[in-house]
Amino acid sequence: MTENKTAVTTINKDDLIVVAGAGGFIAGALTRYFHDQGFTNIRAIDKKPLPDWYQRVPGVESLSMDLSDEANCKIAVRGAKEVYNLAADMGGMGFIERFRVECLRSILINTHLIEAAYNAGAERFFFSSSACAYNTTLQQDPNVRALKESDAYPAMAERGYGWEKLLSEMFCEEYWAERQMKTAIARFHNVYGPFGSWDGGREKAPAALSRKVIEAADTGDLNITIWGDGSQTRSFMYIDDCVKGIDMITHCDELIATPVNLGSSHLVSINDLVSLIEEIGGVKLARHYDLDAPRGVAGRNSDNTFIRSVLGWEPDTTLEQGMAKTYVWISQQYADRAAGLPTPAGKADFKAAH
Ligand code: NAD
Repeated sequence: MTENKTAVTTINKDDLIVVAGAGGFIAGALTRYFHDQGFTNIRAIDKKPLPDWYQRVPGVESLSMDLSDEANCKIAVRGAKEVYNLAADMGGMGFIERFRVECLRSILINTHLIEAAYNAGAERFFFSSSACAYNTTLQQDPNVRALKESDAYPAMAERGYGWEKLLSEMFCEEYWAERQMKTAIARFHNVYGPFGSWDGGREKAPAALSRKVIEAADTGDLNITIWGDGSQTRSFMYIDDCVKGIDMITHCDELIATPVNLGSSHLVSINDLVSLIEEIGGVKLARHYDLDAPRGVAGRNSDNTFIRSVLGWEPDTTLEQGMAKTYVWISQQYADRAAGLPTPAGKADFKAAH
């Protein structure tokens, strides 16, 4: 585990770590992270069939199971010392604005998994919350004030997805208050990087825009369509920072059952992000704005005062460094797909017609 000033690490290298949602982006990276740290007993779980997982880590027990089912959750956490819940039906704005019922139904995963973890005697339980849990009325201007942890209440979360996160956070808070299970809650702000969804409907802005730039460069059609007017602002956290942060937050007793921002505090507009990707790709595109497309809140940034004060750390990979690596990875995926190779993070895995 990563050393930090308040860490109380009681876990041994052969204790069982369960990672839920491991066929997806962040939990896949977290599984690899623990494996690379020398943990030998990791159980990775996702409802997707194994060939559809974004990455598979050799030597890790990998199970395809639906964790919205209570019986499966009991099996999933048997013998676990620590449980990390990153399983959720989610995607970028295009997904979460359209499929609110699916997003809300993720409540079943956390509800059953935390109860099962408690009954199995797990020592620590991590939940992946989101900046979408914050009050949306504070996010109506692109020149936002960064969101601090107390800004979630009074609550007016993102419909569907954000409310599910807020309620699941509360489960984590009460399992500690009432039952003394150590829980950890991180509110992620836009995570990006290799092995994330890059096409098919769940991808977020950094991956979607990279794919569009790569496609334009490949086809010679030097146009790009941007959702909204491009002035909307966000901060973006590189995946390596995210998994390191999850580890630090989970093993910090000062942060038990306390939601904490895990995100970059470097605010950029979507237009700036496009310029950066154009620079990386060495192309210049004509921009077209789709004002009817989902754009989310006008602006959102992470206030990192709290995480800095407790951990003495915050995500610090620059957008330039992170996007350069992401662009290279998506370019390779794009080429692989063109060559007929499987690219699970680039295919739609949900029915668009509801
Ligand atoms: P992802 O879609 O790549 O991964 C989520 C995984 O959960 C998927 O592989 C999916 O198949 C799995 N899953 C869904 N329902 C399941 C079920 N019933 N049983 C088992 N597995 C199930 O998403 P991600 O970007 O890796 O996000 C991981 C977590 O982080 C989620 O909770 C998400 O809400 C949260 N989060 C992500 C971001 C981001 O920018 N990526 C931002 C804020 C919060």
